[in-house]
Amino acid sequence: MLIDGKEVPSLSGKTFPSIDPSTGKTLADVYEAGVEDVALAVGAAQKAFESTWRSTLPRDRSKKLMKLAELLSAKVEMMSWLECYDAGKPITASRAWLAGGPGTLEYYAGCLLTLSGETLEVSDRTLMDFTLREPLGVCGLIVPWNFPLSIALLKMAPAVAAGNCVVIKPSEVTPLSTVELGALVAEAGFPPGVVNIVNGPGDPVGAALVRDPRVAKISFTGGTVSGKRIFREAADTVKRLTLELGGKSASLVFADADVDKAVNVAFTDIVRNSGQVCGACTRVLLEEPIADAFIAKLEAKLRAVKLGMPESTETEMGPMVSSDQAAKVRGYVEIGKAEGATPRAYVDLAGRADLASDAFLPPMLFHGATNAMRVAREEIFGPALTVIRFRTEEEAVAITNDTRYGLAACVFTRDAGRAMRLVRSVSAGTVCVNTGVRSSVDAPFGGFRESGIGKERGKEALLDDTQLKNVRYGL
Ligand code: NDP
Repeated sequence: MLIDGKEVPSLSGKTFPSIDPSTGKTLADVYEAGVEDVALAVGAAQKAFESTWRSTLPRDRSKKLMKLAELLSAKVEMMSWLECYDAGKPITASRAWLAGGPGTLEYYAGCLLTLSGETLEVSDRTLMDFTLREPLGVCGLIVPWNFPLSIALLKMAPAVAAGNCVVIKPSEVTPLSTVELGALVAEAGFPPGVVNIVNGPGDPVGAALVRDPRVAKISFTGGTVSGKRIFREAADTVKRLTLELGGKSASLVFADADVDKAVNVAFTDIVRNSGQVCGACTRVLLEEPIADAFIAKLEAKLRAVKLGMPESTETEMGPMVSSDQAAKVRGYVEIGKAEGATPRAYVDLAGRADLASDAFLPPMLFHGATNAMRVAREEIFGPALTVIRFRTEEEAVAITNDTRYGLAACVFTRDAGRAMRLVRSVSAGTVCVNTGVRSSVDAPFGGFRESGIGKERGKEALLDDTQLKNVRYGL
């Protein structure tokens, strides 16, 4: 762990194993924090905030982030292997994602230099009125297992850029790359306590951050159940929140669309990170005239997918992050059958002695589904899409918006007028036209309704990590 600028064991000396899901073997024993370690980390962050970081010049904060980006660039290959083994990510995909890590730090290193308040022409002419953008204080950053280092950086970079000090809690399922980030933070020369990292389970370690009255904000990415619990518990100390929760996003494919393009996006949404992606379009809505052709093309690609061990550069799809997550997805196969849908798998794992771990799953489609079924309403978070057919644009919009979520949506059509109508009528935080949901650090990402609160990425994430002070100056 990293507390007050030092790499330290937990006070209790307790550890937990980090497991390679493709073999079930232990990769490393990681120190497990207790609430007393969290209290120390929050104390260190608060001290650093008050004594140095809040008053550090923007250009000096920027330089530290740039230095960390430089150090991280030299470690991207090593970090990619860590996540390959720790999270079961195919190595080529792991490399591709982590290549963006330094860019996240660089983006906010630049963006913070633009932070400013405004002068307001208020109606009382005896006043000069202006605003200041100030940091919040200590931010608790609770990170999930699907993109461990990438999401830790997407939370840490804007928070630290804005002048906050942070305590990061990686998922206990995938702590290793964030542990290594701690070593780089120490090397980059941040003042002690600006960035702290504690490992351990959501409850009590994450929960202790949420309850600590010294923590001003929680930024959480994860499941809706944990997100709602955090929302409730954060109310006691009226914390600021960024919540990036689940999704059941839809891809709307019209008869005039470039079907091959839409098929490729659906294929990616199943295969990428074994479907463990919050923004994946897991409901595929097909206009009747092209539905059969679309399904035939997608099925052909899924049968040919290279499912394999994550360390092979040939592998397109690896295991799930854990046997537990795979079991959850298998549960949905049974739920789908019981509801009357037809789940179909496209790789026969029985014939694959090389993939012995029960964390492996085949790519799957739920056919014959309606939007009322649980497989169309709940986040499965695995390599499975639910296929629904529609006849009219109005019906497609109604199905798309008939969900408690609202993270993203994709529209495939060559009719520009229809595309723009759908951009307005689809209720989701990100709407993509003729492309898949591919987020980047420089554009805001965050959901409507139960998909969350606030934005990650873009300048909005930086602003969400500040508070606005109004100054009324008597003349
Ligand atoms: P969680 O939402 O429980 O985990 C996300 C993070 O929150 C982890 O660091 C976890 O710690 C921590 N956490 C859990 N409970 C609490 C709590 N009470 N207080 C503070 N922190 C907490 O995800 P699960 O692993 O349980 O996955 C469940 C489902 O969530 C998945 O099947 C998927 O549907 C969804 N999910 C969505 C993600 C997204 O990107 N939006 C990412 C991951 C999951 P720890 O893991 O150490 O227990």
